[in-house]
Amino acid sequence: MAEQCIFCKIRDGQVKSNILHRDDTCFVIRDIAPKAPVHLLVIPNEHFTVLTSLTPGHAKMLGGMFIAAQQMAVREGVDKAGYRLVINQGDHAGQQVPHLHLHVLGGRQLTAMG
Ligand code: AMP
Repeated sequence: MAEQCIFCKIRDGQVKSNILHRDDTCFVIRDIAPKAPVHLLVIPNEHFTVLTSLTPGHAKMLGGMFIAAQQMAVREGVDKAGYRLVINQGDHAGQQVPHLHLHVLGGRQLTAMG
């Protein structure tokens, strides 16, 4: 665990959060500052910072994150209307928390990205 990482603290119960889903690859919480009616964060259990460090050994982790994202989209009722999955990587993408996470955004018409 990275000592100062908010997502590691949530994973370990040191910071309270409602964990909606947890499995051996990842866990899911609601974003504290939602940008859409449904705004979830799918977070790998492993503290993982930069996508450039990905190896084939991370395939299970990434697969688990995408499976959890689509299951949560169904649970939240946004799967039929559509939703967006976003990963912000680095400064130019506006990444705030340096622990890989997948945003799941839905529940309204989303505007084009830019
Ligand atoms: P990113 O900009 O991709 O790094 O996204 C980080 C996200 O984490 C932001 O949308 C924040 O609102 C969210 N966030 C930060 N702290 C918490 C927290 N304690 N609980 C839930 N979401 C958080």
